[in-house]
Amino acid sequence: MNTISTLDSLSQILTLRPEEMAWDGNCGVLPIKISAYLKQLITESEAVRRQYIPTLAECSTVEGDFPDPLSEEAHETVPRLIHRYENRAAFLVTDICAAYCRHCFRRRFTGTFQGPATREEVRAVANYLAEHKEIRELLLTGGDPLTLGIGELEEMIACFRSIRPDLVLRVCTRVPFSDPSRITSSLISMLQRHNSSAIFAMVQCNHPDEITAESRAAISRFVDGGIPVFNQSVLLKGINDSADVLEELCNTLVSMRVKPHYLFQGDLVVGTAHFRVPLNDGFQLEAELRRRLSGLAMPTYAVDLPGGGKIPLVTSYLIDEQEGVWKFRNTQGEEYLYFDAKKDSP
Ligand SMILES: *Cc1c(COP(=O)(O)O)cnc(C)c1O
Ligand code: SF4
Repeated sequence: MNTISTLDSLSQILTLRPEEMAWDGNCGVLPIKISAYLKQLITESEAVRRQYIPTLAECSTVEGDFPDPLSEEAHETVPRLIHRYENRAAFLVTDICAAYCRHCFRRRFTGTFQGPATREEVRAVANYLAEHKEIRELLLTGGDPLTLGIGELEEMIACFRSIRPDLVLRVCTRVPFSDPSRITSSLISMLQRHNSSAIFAMVQCNHPDEITAESRAAISRFVDGGIPVFNQSVLLKGINDSADVLEELCNTLVSMRVKPHYLFQGDLVVGTAHFRVPLNDGFQLEAELRRRLSGLAMPTYAVDLPGGGKIPLVTSYLIDEQEGVWKFRNTQGEEYLYFDAKKDSP
């Protein structure tokens, strides 16, 4: 059971549809990669299939699409380090993932056969972190950092820890849902050895079909090991753009001790236009989810503006304010007042 990396090998396990067969490996940069674990799941779930099998739609460019809408290259202060927000930075540990998601927003980098960062690159980032104490959180991302060997990853984390024991680390990974057997007890023990400040796992699960006995076990290993897990979903047209699907996803994640953190609007990345949900539909979904979900289960709907960074996309519940009397609409649409504290009151 090996990884699938060509249309030919894919066609041996699945009857490919015309739009899948028409995908042209030369039209985009992101190669095919489907882990052995996903082979079964893509045949059973349409939602999983569409996240991993390319179609001809990837080959079209829509007006307003960019290769790098988040201007990450402009914020690359040290090779592979994106310092876009003052207090946190993202380190592109490797371009490799266990499987490539067709909606990947970092396809300018992901799967470009550059491999893991070198020792010198890690050292240069560590030196930058030493000089930039304003960085409180470091995102280990890519690509997927958990495609590295445990020893290799430990060397990297130890290097950052030796210089900044206070740094909060966020391991950004899709491996619990793309290749869950990589979440081993030795990986967890390794992370625990470097727990002088918190280590979070930031995972990506977009549909309830991705939750299997194996992915549940992988998540449990993190949480049991003292590593809190937060989920960052991407809103994907025809896959999870329904209140029922998202409601089930968020509630299931909470039951697994995972906090639904972000629900991302699709970025304006070349080759992903067919996955984008119109903002108006997204706002309606957000409002519907807020009616249906607990505060714990409710993610923040957000978008990364080209050049402008992340902003929350929230329906406003404020209607009006007059002389300290604020008028709101509650989630059910009824109007209520809030009487503000008087400026000169004790
Ligand atoms: C999203 C992102 C972060 C983290 O932002 P949070 O809102 O804290 O999740 C950090 N750096 C970059 C470049 C990002 O894109
Ligand atoms: S796991 Fe993340 S970086 Fe890798 S292909 Fe999927 S979205 Fe892109």
